[in-house]
Amino acid sequence: MRLKNLELNGFKSFSKKTVLEFQNSIVSIVGPNGSGKSNVVEALRFVLGEQSIKSMRGSSGSDLIFKGSKNLPKSSRASVTIYFNNSDKVFKLINGAGENINLNYETISISREVYSDGLNKYILNGSEVRLRDINNLLSSVNIGSSHHHIISQGEADRILNASSKDRREMVEDALGLKIFQYKIKEAQRKLERTTDNMKEVSLLRRENAPHLNFLKKQVDKFEKAKEMQITLLSFYQEYLKKESVYLEKEQFFLLKEKEKISSELENIKEKISSVEEVSTREESEKEKELKILEKKVYEIRGIKSEIERKLGRIEGMMEVEEKRKETKIPESVVLISEEKVKTIFNEINDFINEAINKEDLSDIKNILLHIKDILKELLPKVSIEDSSQNLNSILNPELELLKKNQQEILTEMQNIKEEENKIIENIDILKREINQDNEDIYLKEKERFNLRVKYQELTSALELILIKERNLLKEMESFENEIKEGSVLIGIEILSYKDFVIEENIDRSIQEELKRKIERIKIKLEDVGLGGGAEVIKEFQEVSERDNFLAKEMEDLSKSIEALRVLMADLKEKIDIEFKEGIKKINIEFSNFFSLMFGGGEGYLSIVTENKRKKNDDESNTEEGENIVFEQGIEINVSLPHKKVKELNALSGGERSLTSIALLFAMSQVNPPPFLVLDETDAALDEANSRKYGDMLEKLSHHSQLIVVTHNRETMSRAGILYGVTVGSDGASKLLSVKLDEAAAIAK
Ligand code: ATP
Repeated sequence: MRLKNLELNGFKSFSKKTVLEFQNSIVSIVGPNGSGKSNVVEALRFVLGEQSIKSMRGSSGSDLIFKGSKNLPKSSRASVTIYFNNSDKVFKLINGAGENINLNYETISISREVYSDGLNKYILNGSEVRLRDINNLLSSVNIGSSHHHIISQGEADRILNASSKDRREMVEDALGLKIFQYKIKEAQRKLERTTDNMKEVSLLRRENAPHLNFLKKQVDKFEKAKEMQITLLSFYQEYLKKESVYLEKEQFFLLKEKEKISSELENIKEKISSVEEVSTREESEKEKELKILEKKVYEIRGIKSEIERKLGRIEGMMEVEEKRKETKIPESVVLISEEKVKTIFNEINDFINEAINKEDLSDIKNILLHIKDILKELLPKVSIEDSSQNLNSILNPELELLKKNQQEILTEMQNIKEEENKIIENIDILKREINQDNEDIYLKEKERFNLRVKYQELTSALELILIKERNLLKEMESFENEIKEGSVLIGIEILSYKDFVIEENIDRSIQEELKRKIERIKIKLEDVGLGGGAEVIKEFQEVSERDNFLAKEMEDLSKSIEALRVLMADLKEKIDIEFKEGIKKINIEFSNFFSLMFGGGEGYLSIVTENKRKKNDDESNTEEGENIVFEQGIEINVSLPHKKVKELNALSGGERSLTSIALLFAMSQVNPPPFLVLDETDAALDEANSRKYGDMLEKLSHHSQLIVVTHNRETMSRAGILYGVTVGSDGASKLLSVKLDEAAAIAK
C-alpha cells in the first residue's frame, strides 16, 4: 500500500484543484511563510477524518473553505481526496458482523467535503460512507485517528505535552492497536444494540404471553372437546344403532298389531251387525194382553166382592129374619154361616196369593185395599153360628125370598169365579210365555253385550296402538333431531352408527343411561364450545411459533452478548499484552534514537496507573453514581548525558524537539505507519542535529513514506520530490515541482 496522490479543491488557500503526487518515499514541501504548506498538511489531516477544527486552525468548518481573494470568488465547499495504491489489497472494512472485509479495489480513494453550513461528507471510492467507516478503514492500514504520524507545525513536542492517557492512545495507535479498540467499540455498540434487542424481544414475549396463555387455554379446551367428541361419537354409535333397531322393530310390531286388531275389529263389527237388534224397551203384545187380563181379574174381583157384599147383606138379612123368628137375637150380632166364613177365607186367601205373584206395588196395594174392605165389613159383626138347623128354624116367608136371592147371587158368584179361574189360567200361560220370550232376549243381549265388550276392548287396543304409533313417531323425530344435534357437535361422522355392531337384545334402561351420558357430554361440549377451533389452533401455532422464535432469538442474543463480552475481554487482553510488548520494543528503539540524538543519555517509557472518578451511566454502581476507573497512561522518562535534569519541563525547546523526534521515530520504527507527515519538526535543530534528523528520515523512509514541510536545506536534500508552494497573483496557493536548488531558493 502506498500513498499515491492528494487532491485539494477549495481547501483553505488552495482555490483550484491542486494535486500532489507521492512517487518518492520522501516528499518535501517547501515555500515561503504563509504560502500554504501547512494547509497541505491540514488537508491530509482533514481527509483522514480529523474532527478537531482547531487542530486545522479553524473555528468552524467554513474556515476550511477557500474564502476568496481579490481576483477569485470564494468556494462553496472544500474538498480533499487522498488516493492509495491498494494492489496488495490490505485495506479492510469491518462489516456489521464485526468481520474484516478486504476491499478489492486497486486504488482506494477517500474524499471529504465540507460545506459552508458545516456539513461534512465522507466518500469512499465514490460512495458516501460514515466517518466511522473511514476510521475503521484507515486503522486497518495502521493510520490511527490520533494522527500521531502527522506532526503539525509547532507540534514537534506534542507527545511530550500530551497527558499520559493521550500518550497511551498515541502509542496504542502507533502500535496498530487502534483497530482492536475499534473492534471493542464496535462490540460495545453491538452489545448495547443486542441488549436493547433483548429488552425488546423480552417485552414482546411479555406482551404476547397473556394472548399465548389465552390461546393455550383455548387449545386445551379444544383438545378436551376433541376427546369429548370421540367419546360422544362412541356413545352415539351405540345409542343410535340400538335406537334405530328398536324403532324399526317397534314400527314393524305396531304395524302388525294394528293390522291384526283392525281385522278383528272388522270381524266383530260384522258379528255385531249380524246379531238382531231386539227392542226390549217396547212392550210386547203378550205383555199388553197380560195387562188386560190382569185388569179383567181385578175387575172380576171387584164384581166378586160386590156380589159377596150383596150376598153377605142378603145372608145377614136372612139371619136377622131367622133370629127374629126363633130367638131374640141381640141386634149387634150378625150370624154368618160356616160356608160364608169359608168363602170369605178363600177369597182373602186368593187375594193374598195374587198379591204374592204381583211385582207392581200399586197392584199389590189395590189387592190389599180389597182385603181391607172385606175385613172392614166383616169384623164388627163376626160371631160364628155352627148350627144350620137353628137358622132354618128361624126362617120366615121373607126368608124364602132372601134365599132365592142368595141362590141367584151364589150362581152369579159361581160364574164369576169360573171366569176368573179361566182368566187366571190364561194369565199363568201368558206369564210363562213372556218369561220364555225374555229369556231369548236376554241371551241375545248377552251375546251382543259380549261382542260390544270385545269391540270396546279392540277399539281401546287400537287406540293404544295409535298412541304408541304417535309416540313412536315422536321417538323417531327425536332420533332424527338427535342425529342433527350430534352432527353439529361431531360432524358427518355421526352417521357411522349405521356400521356399528350391537347385540340383538336391546335393554331400554341401558339406552336411557347412554342417553344421559350423551346429554352430559353435549352440555359439556356446548359449554366448552367448538366454534373456531381450527382457527384458534392455527393462531396458537403461529403465536407459539413466534414465541419460540423470540425465545430462540433471546437465546441467540444472550449467546451473542456472551460472545461479545468474551470478544471484548479477549481484545482488551490482546491490547494489554501487545501494548506491553510494544512498549518494550518502543523502549529499545527510543533508547537508541535518544542516545543517537543526544550522543548518550537514556529515554524510556513507563506504564502508570491512575485512579479516576468517572460519572457512570449505571447509577447502581456506587452511591454517588460515580465509578472509580483505573486508567493506564504512559510516562516519558529521560536522562540527558552529562546533565542531571530528568523532568521534561526542564528541557530546552531543542531538547524537547529531539526527545519528541526520538520517541516518534522509535514508535514509527516499531510499527511503521504508511506515511509520516512532519511539518517543520526540524525547525529547532542545529546543523549537526539536522544531519542526524536527515539520517533518521532516510532510515524511516525504508518503511514509511515521508512528507516533510521544511525550510531546512539538509532535510530538503534527503527528499526525492520537492514541491514548492507559492502564493499566486490571484491570491491563492500554487503548487509546483522544483529542484533542490530552486527549493532552497523558494523556501527563503
Ligand atoms: P509558514 O512557513 O509561515 O508556516 P505556511 O506556508 O505554512 O507558512 P500556511 O500556514 O499554510 O503557510 O498558510 C497560511 C495562509 O493561508 C495565510 O496567508 C492564510 O490567509 C491562508 N488561508 C488560510 N485559510 C484560508 C482560507 N480559508 N481561504 C483563503 N486563504 C486562507
